Amino acid sequence: MLATFGGREDGGVDRVAGSPADLASRVWLADRITAAGLHAWTDEVGNVFGRQPGSRGPWLLTGSHTDTVPVGGRLDGAYGAIAAVEVLRTLHEAGHPAAAAVETVGFWDEEGVLPTSNGGLVGSGTLVESGHIDEITGFVELHVEQGPRLESRRSTLAAVEGIVGIDRYLVVVRGQANHAGTTPMNVRADAGRAVAKIAAHLWETANEVDESMVVNVGAMQLYPGAPNVVPGEAHLTVEFRAESELSLLRAVERTRALVRRIGTEQGCSVEVSQLSHKPVVRFEDGYVDRIHEVCVRHDPTAARLMSYAGHDASALSSRVPTGMIFVPSTAGISHSPVEQTPKDDLILGAQVLLDLLVELESSRSHAVPVHSEAR
Ligand SMILES: [Zn+2]
Repeated sequence: MLATFGGREDGGVDRVAGSPADLASRVWLADRITAAGLHAWTDEVGNVFGRQPGSRGPWLLTGSHTDTVPVGGRLDGAYGAIAAVEVLRTLHEAGHPAAAAVETVGFWDEEGVLPTSNGGLVGSGTLVESGHIDEITGFVELHVEQGPRLESRRSTLAAVEGIVGIDRYLVVVRGQANHAGTTPMNVRADAGRAVAKIAAHLWETANEVDESMVVNVGAMQLYPGAPNVVPGEAHLTVEFRAESELSLLRAVERTRALVRRIGTEQGCSVEVSQLSHKPVVRFEDGYVDRIHEVCVRHDPTAARLMSYAGHDASALSSRVPTGMIFVPSTAGISHSPVEQTPKDDLILGAQVLLDLLVELESSRSHAVPVHSEAR
């Protein structure tokens, strides 16, 4: 199975995009599509597609990515890519008319581990810029939650409402590098102390703005970086993720005020610059409602929630109606060899995907009968 490509003894997977394991896994995926009696094809970037032989589109696309982070898990991405093929195989073997209108995809480089991948979503980003997107009527991605929310509410399914916005900033603090022994404490302009105080306050800053937002200080550097030199300069990166653009704006306003206050207090100059902005993505309400309805049929406690992780669905949503289905991640752990989901939940997710594709496809062909007869 797919997890043997880049498989590790600890149960994890190393299948970074472009690695030999990743390339071999794409050949395997295409072979598996062919073995299911379907037609496999690969686009110029390396996305692997599957459809019923002879089907002429347009297609409702479903799938996910097949690459992983280094020392990643078996389910992130792979689950949705494989389930898509299994669902289409099932429809094809049953002779169901929806089979002709569904296409599967295993996306290239979602994770963006390589410095050249510019933050990820490379395969899905390429698809939405290609001519093939005009033949796609919608996109549904089945994925593990990668967080603890479903498990904590004892739900087995969620309809995803969208993807949080992500803002990254660089904070630069400049003080005065000096002798760490001879400089009295009360005259130091210690950039290290200032940046540590800023980092320590950011959790509260974010929480005061919006209790549902998250903040991360993922990198900090002190310069020149020696035990006997008072740091003359310090850098800190901060990342905010929030369900609303307003929260992201208010968080950075407060951060700028915090940084100014601590800079002044510590005798340092400060600078806050934005590194990147990924806007909040909201999936089409109608699509989310349909997905939630199907989820509720299988689990009355099915949730509606925002994803705090990025997904290929965010690229697709810029061009076509898009939705996602989540199943739980055991203990909320992902991007790790211990990433797991109970087998029953994995099967349930695939069943929901199948029901949803049939429903979306039949309502679409009813909605435009002339068009469907014409093709
Ligand atoms: Zn993923």
